[in-house]
Amino acid sequence: MTNREIAAALEEVADLLEFQGANPFRVRAYRNGAQKVKDAPKSLLTIVGDSGAEALTAIDGVGKDLAEKIAELATSGTLAMLDELRAEVPASVMALMRVPGMGPKKAATLHKELGVQSLDQLRAACEAGEVQKLKGFGKKTEETILAGIEHAAKAGERVRWADADAIVQRLLAHMDGVEAIKRREPAGSYRRGKETVGDLDLLVDVGATMDAKTVATVMDRFGEFEGVAEVIARGDTKMSIRLDSGLQIDLRCVPSESFGAALQYFTGSKEHNVEVRGRAKARGLKVSEWGVFNTADDTRIAGDTEEEVYAAIGLPCFPPELRENRQEFAAAEAGELPRLIELSDLRGDLHMHTSATDGRGTLREMVAAARQRGLEYIAITDHSKRVTMAHGLDADRLRAQWKEIDLVNEELQAEGAEFVVLKGIECDILEAGPMDLPDDVLAEADWVIASLHYGQNQPRAKIMERLLGAVAHPSVSIVAHPTGRLIGKRASYDVEVNELIAACVEHGKLLELNANPMRLDLDDVNCAAAKAAGVPIVISSDAHSTEGLDVLRYGVLQARRAGLEQWDVFNTRRFNFWEADKASGLFPRASVAWRNKPVTEKIAYFLARHRAALTKGDNKAAAFCKQDIGYSIGWLVEQSFKKDKVTWPNVWIDGGWYTNLTIGKDRWTAEGWLVAVQGQEKWRLAPFVGQFQLSETTVSPYKIDIGLRPSAFEKHDEWSIPYTRDASRDEALRKALADRENWPTHFAG
Ligand SMILES: [Zn+2]
Ligand SMILES: [Zn+2]
Repeated sequence: MTNREIAAALEEVADLLEFQGANPFRVRAYRNGAQKVKDAPKSLLTIVGDSGAEALTAIDGVGKDLAEKIAELATSGTLAMLDELRAEVPASVMALMRVPGMGPKKAATLHKELGVQSLDQLRAACEAGEVQKLKGFGKKTEETILAGIEHAAKAGERVRWADADAIVQRLLAHMDGVEAIKRREPAGSYRRGKETVGDLDLLVDVGATMDAKTVATVMDRFGEFEGVAEVIARGDTKMSIRLDSGLQIDLRCVPSESFGAALQYFTGSKEHNVEVRGRAKARGLKVSEWGVFNTADDTRIAGDTEEEVYAAIGLPCFPPELRENRQEFAAAEAGELPRLIELSDLRGDLHMHTSATDGRGTLREMVAAARQRGLEYIAITDHSKRVTMAHGLDADRLRAQWKEIDLVNEELQAEGAEFVVLKGIECDILEAGPMDLPDDVLAEADWVIASLHYGQNQPRAKIMERLLGAVAHPSVSIVAHPTGRLIGKRASYDVEVNELIAACVEHGKLLELNANPMRLDLDDVNCAAAKAAGVPIVISSDAHSTEGLDVLRYGVLQARRAGLEQWDVFNTRRFNFWEADKASGLFPRASVAWRNKPVTEKIAYFLARHRAALTKGDNKAAAFCKQDIGYSIGWLVEQSFKKDKVTWPNVWIDGGWYTNLTIGKDRWTAEGWLVAVQGQEKWRLAPFVGQFQLSETTVSPYKIDIGLRPSAFEKHDEWSIPYTRDASRDEALRKALADRENWPTHFAG
C-alpha cells in the first residue's frame, strides 16, 4: 500500500472509532498517525520491508501498537481491526460522515438520537425539522447538512483517480506474473483519466486463440489479487471481483486479433462510442468489441490495434482523455486535434509550502527535491497570517524567508545551476474582501497567489466580490484552487467561474489547476473554458512536502482532458522566456530583478552575459545567452500578433526559433523564423531580421523586419515597439498560412 492509502485507512479507523464514541485520545492517536503517514517522505512499505515494523516507531507520534497496524496495512493491504470496525458500522451510516460539515460525532448523534441509518433518512429528518432540535445542531447546521446531502449522495462510491491508479499499478504488476499474457491494458474511465473512477476494467490479450487453459490461468491469478473480498462472477471470457474497499474490477480476456477493438470499445466513453459507431455505419462498417467488420459480407477489416480500428473509420486514434464526444470529432475533421500537454513539458512549479508554515520540507529541501525532479524554477508560496492553523507568515517572517531565498539563489548561481527560486506567497483573500498582507509587502513579491480559504459559505455575490477584487489587485499573479472543491468531500464555493475567467482576461491574470488529487481545481471543463478565453493555466503541486511535488502528473492528466496543449500552460515556459512575458506587463510580473524592464534591456542583459561568457571561454553559457536573445526577439514578434488579437484557431505563432545571430562591435543582427505550430507540426511561416544598436547597458534603437515568405522580405527603415500591424500584412500572413503546402521549406518537431 502507498502512504496515501495507509493514511486513508487510518483516517477511516479514526472516523469509525469516533462514531462509536471511543476514547478521544485513541481517536486522536489514529488521526495523528494518518497525518504522520501522509507526511512521511519515504514509502513506509519500503521502511517496513527494509527494517521491519519496529523502524516505524522512529516516526514522531507512532507508538508500537500503531507501528504494527501500519506494517499490517503496508504489507497486506488490509487491517483486521478496520474490517471489524466496518462490520460493526453499516456502510450506509458511513455515508453520513461524507456529508460536508458532518463528521463522525454528529453522525453518531443522529444515529443514536433519531435512528438515522442512511442519507435518505437524514434528508427526511432534516426536512421534518427534527435535526435542528438536537443539542449542538441548530437551524443553520440543518440547512448546511441538507445542502450537503445531495453532494455526498452524488460522490457515491467512486474513487479518486490517484487512488485507482495505485490499485491499477499493483494489479498490473500482479498480473504480469502470468507469462501467457501478451498485452494488458486498463480501460474505462480510468484510462480516460476521469477524476473519479466507478469501477476498473482490465483487458488481457491471451493470444491468437481463446485457449481455455490460458484463460483459466489468467482468471485464477486475477482471483488471487490482494484484498479481494468476493468473486462476483466468472464466465468464459469475463470475470468480476470486488475488493475490500468496495471497488469492482472487471477482467476481460480477448484474442489478439480483437485486443485493439476491445480496448477502444471498453475505454469509452459511451457517448464517444455512439458517435464512432454512427460514423462506421455511414461507411458500411460495423464496430464491436471484436473488431471492425464490413456490414455487407461480415469480413473483418481491423481489430488488432486501436490505431487500426480508428483508421478503418477514417479517424485519428484519439488520446483516451479526449474521448467524451465533446469537441474531439470536430477537431479531428478540421485537422486540429490538440497536441496534449505532457508531464515532461512542465518546467516549473509555482505553488508549494515549506516548514515555515504547514509544509514538511525546509526551503532547501524543497529546492533540492525540485531540482532532482528536473524542474528549472519554483515559487515558494507559504500561507499568510490569516491561516493561523498553519502558523501563516506575517510581513516580518515573510521578508525573513525572502532573505533566505536570496541567499539560496546566490548559491545556485555560484554553482552555475540554471535554477531559480521565486519569492512568493499564498495570500488569503480575507472574509471581508482585502488581501491578508499589506500592499507594499505584496508588491515586493515575485509571485502572489490569492486564495480563498475562509468564509467559503458566503453568498455568491460576496465570494465573487472577493475573488474579483483579488484579480484586480496589481500585485496578484494568480488565483489558486479557484472553486475550492474537494473531490467527493466538499462542493465548490458559490463561484461563477466564467466571470472569474473574464476578469483574468481583463487584468492579465492566471488561473491555477491545483494538481492535488483531492482538488484538481480548476476541473477539465473550466480549464477548457479558460483556454478558450486565452487565460493561461498554471499546473501546480501545492506540495506540503518534497513528495508532494509528485502530484503534478495528476494535474497534467486533468489538463489533457481539458484539451490543453503545452502553450496553454504557463509553467511549461522556460524561465527566461517567461520573464520576458512578465516584463511586458502581459502577464503578472515575476521577479524583482526584472520588474518593469523593457525587453530591450533584457536583450542587453543577455548580450552582456553573452560577452562575458565568451571572454571566459564558456561556450555553453554563451550559447544559452544567445538562445535567450532569440527567445526575447521571438517574444516580440509573437506579441505583435497577440496585441492585435490576430489569432488563427489552433495555430500558435512562435517566433522563438532563430537561425543566426551576428554580434558586432556596436551593432548586431538576429535572423530568425516566425514559426507556426499546428497540431503536431511546425512550419516556418516568415523570416524576420532584427537589428540592434549597442551602448554600454542598453540596446537601442532597434528594428525588426518580418518577411512574409522566404522570397518576400519587407524592409522597414524605422520600427519601434509596439509593433503595429497593417491589415494588408495581416491578410498576407493569413494567406501564407493557408497556402502552407506550397511553402518551400517544411520541418517537423
Ligand atoms: Zn491553498
Ligand atoms: Zn497552498
